[in-house]
Amino acid sequence: MRIDLHTHSSVSDGTDSPSELVAAAAAAGLDVVALCDHDTFDGLDEAVAAGAAAGVRVLRGVEMSAQHQWDSVHVLGYGCRVDDPALAAELARVREGRNGRVPAMLANLARYGMPIPAEVLDRQVGVSPSVGRPHIADAMVELGYVVDRREAFDTWLADDRPIFVGRYAAPLGRALDLIRGAGGVAVIAHPWGRGQREQLPPRLLTELADAGRLDGIEVDHQDHDEATRVDLRALAERLGLLATGSSDYHGLGKIDHGLGCNTTSGEVFAEIETRVTRRGGRLTGQGAASV
Ligand code: AMP
Ligand code: FE
Ligand code: FE
Ligand code: ZN
Repeated sequence: MRIDLHTHSSVSDGTDSPSELVAAAAAAGLDVVALCDHDTFDGLDEAVAAGAAAGVRVLRGVEMSAQHQWDSVHVLGYGCRVDDPALAAELARVREGRNGRVPAMLANLARYGMPIPAEVLDRQVGVSPSVGRPHIADAMVELGYVVDRREAFDTWLADDRPIFVGRYAAPLGRALDLIRGAGGVAVIAHPWGRGQREQLPPRLLTELADAGRLDGIEVDHQDHDEATRVDLRALAERLGLLATGSSDYHGLGKIDHGLGCNTTSGEVFAEIETRVTRRGGRLTGQGAASV
């Protein structure tokens, strides 16, 4: 079984529609794909329907914006009940924060001589209810200010660059509790990617695991080098956490990693399904009956 448990569609900052994403997953030979758009469930029904048609199992997911002591942490939630009031309210608050900071970032861009007309940004955001820096990056590419998303982030948009403006994200413990409270399984995405090793030290992960608030950590991810993966895998083993792997695919030509470049084992996927079922979450199988 080839299982990729973290991908994005155009419902957040990916470029493939949910149906296109599932078709690409089938073409890449995946048996299971999880759609985990940032802070929204809006693409899931389309992805599940496309999966039923294409013979690909679609696991319902979300990548929730959280923070620990002002540092950004991404939490993957699998199998959440999308109508859980507490989780839905928190995701709405995060999306409001995403919208709320856009004018300040556009003002910063104008100050640096890179004005972005509203219609250009609107086109890049498209159907997404979850506007993010990648949309701004794509508008900058369209206007010829930078050559690609990477240059946009490295020079202008990353957390320590001049255009960046912060936004609301859920406190980490709260994000984990909300996901599990909605029947889901909570996995910290790329915990030690992009210099985050100091922000999420083993002590903190141990605390969360021991308290039974955290189900797993993403180990095999493009932002982790080989040594980091070895350390994270050992930590997961020691703490009894599920170790997942994924592509964090955002569409081709955007952030360069293809579907299935990292994968999750069948045993770990089965355990995720078991926990979702036990917690009363929402699982998706292959046929309409299990949707
Ligand atoms: P935002 O959701 O607005 O906080 O933007 C963060 C998103 O930008 C991440 O989820 C990634 O998809 C993308 N991204 C790409 N390159 C970078 C980078 N160098 N630093 C931070 N985020 C990046
Ligand atoms: Fe993203
Ligand atoms: Fe992420
Ligand atoms: Zn992601």
